[in-house]
Amino acid sequence: MRATVMFGAGDVRIENVPDARLIKPTDAVITVTRACICGSDLWPYKAMEPSEKGRVMGHEAIGIVESVGSDVRNVKTGDLVVMPFAFSDGTCVFCHEGLHTSCVHGGFFGTIEVAGAQAEAVRIPQADGTLFALPVGKDDALMPSLLTLSDVMGTGHHAALAARVGPGKSVAVVGDGAVGLCGVIAARRLGAEQIIILGRHPDRIALAREFGATDVVSERGDEAVERVRELTGGFGVHSVLECVGAEQAMLTAISIARPGGAVGRVGVPQNEMMPASLPAFYHNITVSGGPAPVRAYIEELLPDVLEGRIEPGRVFDRVVGLDEVPDGYRAMNERESIKVMVKP
Ligand SMILES: [Zn+2]
Repeated sequence: MRATVMFGAGDVRIENVPDARLIKPTDAVITVTRACICGSDLWPYKAMEPSEKGRVMGHEAIGIVESVGSDVRNVKTGDLVVMPFAFSDGTCVFCHEGLHTSCVHGGFFGTIEVAGAQAEAVRIPQADGTLFALPVGKDDALMPSLLTLSDVMGTGHHAALAARVGPGKSVAVVGDGAVGLCGVIAARRLGAEQIIILGRHPDRIALAREFGATDVVSERGDEAVERVRELTGGFGVHSVLECVGAEQAMLTAISIARPGGAVGRVGVPQNEMMPASLPAFYHNITVSGGPAPVRAYIEELLPDVLEGRIEPGRVFDRVVGLDEVPDGYRAMNERESIKVMVKP
């Protein structure tokens, strides 16, 4: 089968690889009908050490179940399913607590160990706990929004929960990528009164406004902090969604939280050390977040997608076939595209 393989920074190729197949009785194999490129795929795209074997990329997909192992009960051949970016058994202590990304039998797609979904097919470990069958046909008009349930919409929602967004709260979203934009949707959905997007790309800002952003801050660094304070009576916001992961983004996030506020971070940190530890301490700011247990959020978010109350699929501004995936990486890396959908 054909799959997207990253061999090093800037080196993404479409290769013939061994077919995805059942290895364990708890596995399923799905034929991928939709996948996408994630902002987090751009970190290895910028920095991956050269590798001869490479890494089959992709951790977001919708597909049709092609085969299931002998222990799989909850999904069957022919089901249309969404695949969260982490697999999980759905039965362990952490899955029961809604933290599927810490599943004791879990892991992540698109890693060195588990092949990814920017491919014709993908093996799904722990299929019963991982996959969620969708009540629509494979070419339903809602497909882009449904696809975001595999990562970015669930991740934006997780950032909002970690940042304790609620009715009447003031919120800032650091980052105007797909996750940040979904964070705006999530903040509005949870009742935030003021939603400030920090970003500067005109297309993204326009979409953020349509999703519910009330204010835009295009400055950076200290000027951005100053501007957010001006917009919030001098104090900063109750809730900050940090959707980038770079050191400067985290520094800004903590600096714009008001005393007693919370930062929910979902951008993969690019540094071991967390900046702004002193202001976070002196202002009693809660810093929370991590890899979003998106599997836990599908039940809650799905009705809003199906009934059109939220349209996170609008973050996709380009659709490519498998052959054009390398150019999709380039386009996202150069911020020419917000998020690229792949139809293998
Ligand atoms: Zn588990």
